[in-house]
Amino acid sequence: MHNENSIEAKGSFESLPYTTIRPSQQIILSEEETRGFYSLRPVQQIINLLTKEINELKPVFDLQYTCRYPSVERMSELKPHEVPGLLEHMTSYHILESHLHEKIIVCDRCSSPNLATRYLCPHCKSMSISKHRTIEHVSCSYISIEDEFLIAKNNDNAINEGNSNNNNFICPRCKTKLHPNSPDVKINEGWFFCNDCSQRSREPVVVYFCRECERMMFVGDVDFKNLYAYTLSKSVDMSKVILIEPIREILEQIGYQAESPGYITGKSGIKHRFDIVCHGENKAIVIDVRYSDVIVNESDLIKLFGAAFDAKVDRSIMIAIPDVTDATFSLAKQYGIIVIKGKEMKDVSTKLEKVMRSLLSSTSHKSAI
Ligand SMILES: [Zn+2]
Ligand SMILES: [Zn+2]
Ligand SMILES: [Zn+2]
Repeated sequence: MHNENSIEAKGSFESLPYTTIRPSQQIILSEEETRGFYSLRPVQQIINLLTKEINELKPVFDLQYTCRYPSVERMSELKPHEVPGLLEHMTSYHILESHLHEKIIVCDRCSSPNLATRYLCPHCKSMSISKHRTIEHVSCSYISIEDEFLIAKNNDNAINEGNSNNNNFICPRCKTKLHPNSPDVKINEGWFFCNDCSQRSREPVVVYFCRECERMMFVGDVDFKNLYAYTLSKSVDMSKVILIEPIREILEQIGYQAESPGYITGKSGIKHRFDIVCHGENKAIVIDVRYSDVIVNESDLIKLFGAAFDAKVDRSIMIAIPDVTDATFSLAKQYGIIVIKGKEMKDVSTKLEKVMRSLLSSTSHKSAI
């Protein structure tokens, strides 16, 4: 039902070019692929989670999904089957490092991890086997299953009521009382008795039964699948990663109500999504963060202008990482959009804080008049 490919290919997270990337595989990324990857909300949330709350994303084995990451599911809108593909993708971008956490077996036909391990009688292949300890009375060389020594013991106890010694066995053949720790007693663990053919064996045959496609297979027929844990890659320079959540927190600290992402339904009836929508002093301000490998061009600005115009907000801000084209900058002036550019988190957040504080004081000043 679930194979590795379908886990990655299915779902609503289609903007990502999911392929069958293994974390260990090196892939070459096009400029286009890299562009904007950091701006994906779940990517941001995962980085934020790993920088602030936990050190590692641990996989949890799951019969339906094979592998789930509860910590990621809790703080993102991703469906369980969308998470492993995204984490692998982030690994291929060297944002995350993968670590082998567990190796599991799955059905080689349907990829389900819902396999039952079955132990069969090696003589007649019956499933109906039971495990027993055997006891050997060394001096009389009588060997039998533990139960027989216990039955003898119970009978003995019934006869000598009130004088029971529960630690002792009775040899069914010579009726000698035996202490389990005595050198005259040998206890052998794990003998298997077949309830169908009555033969005993030391090692049953191990087979796997797929509960999904109802197929029996030997270990040579099952597939192995790795479950990975993920940590933030040491090669990621966190000062160069601009995260939206910390920016939102700064805005809250200086007195705005900020939502990320924020939605405003425009005059046209279209619901617009902005990276941050904030309110302060009865003014609505929208902020979009745009990333680029090289330079942010005007198409992002035009999109923001259209959405902000329709949503009738008071101010709109574009954070451009790392820089904008000259054309974008002059267009922003005409549109009345504030552009904040920068490469580093500290730089960008300082600039934004300054702008937002001034907007707050100017609006309070106006409202006071
Ligand atoms: Zn048998
Ligand atoms: Zn005996
Ligand atoms: Zn199967």
